[in-house]
Amino acid sequence: MREEIKLLVKLQALDLWLEEAEKLKKELPQQIREETKALEEAKERLEKLQQESKDLDMERRRKEREISELGEKVGEKKGRLFQAKSNEEYNALTKEIEILKEKISQLEDEVILLLDRAEEVKAKEGKAKERVKEKEETLKKAQAQAKEKLKETEETLQERRKEREELSNRLNQRTYQLYERVRQNRGYALVEAQKYTCQGCHMEIPPQTFLEVKKGEDLIQCPFCNRILYYWEKNQE
Ligand SMILES: [Zn+2]
Repeated sequence: MREEIKLLVKLQALDLWLEEAEKLKKELPQQIREETKALEEAKERLEKLQQESKDLDMERRRKEREISELGEKVGEKKGRLFQAKSNEEYNALTKEIEILKEKISQLEDEVILLLDRAEEVKAKEGKAKERVKEKEETLKKAQAQAKEKLKETEETLQERRKEREELSNRLNQRTYQLYERVRQNRGYALVEAQKYTCQGCHMEIPPQTFLEVKKGEDLIQCPFCNRILYYWEKNQE
């Protein structure tokens, strides 16, 4: 029986490894999907800022064109001042020139604001570009690592599955079935008994049961969680 317990301990260690490996096989592609998404988001942000830059630039150019058109109008009206035939006409032209100049001054203020804003956006754009680069590198690295890790895991998986098959063949059929049944129900089937306590469910085991476990002649299950109990002496191999 001790031999059988040893085999079960090995089997459980293998099963835990296999479970971890299967989990990893699912997690790695998920990780890559997340990195890809982060890169896409960084790219989107950069594109938005680039578009904003373009829009600001267009708006500024439009205002500058308007300023130069209004400037021409001012020049033209100033020219007409000298040809004014009456005071009313002169005053009216002066008034129009004033209004135009006010409009120009207002547009100039707006241009300054747009330039400031464009500078801010440019700075953000620079950072966004860096971020895209960073994310591209992270993704590249993660892909390379995942590829290698998956290959390695896949190779080891095949070896360990074979090992598991050999091991389960060495076990008594009923023992193996019991192990599998408890494993299905409890996640893992084998658990150490220490100081009259099941280390799986942490319930106190009756002294008689504990002694039987210690003897190791039969397979004893925890009366509370049904896991197979074993006793491991410190100086035991
Ligand atoms: Zn238990």
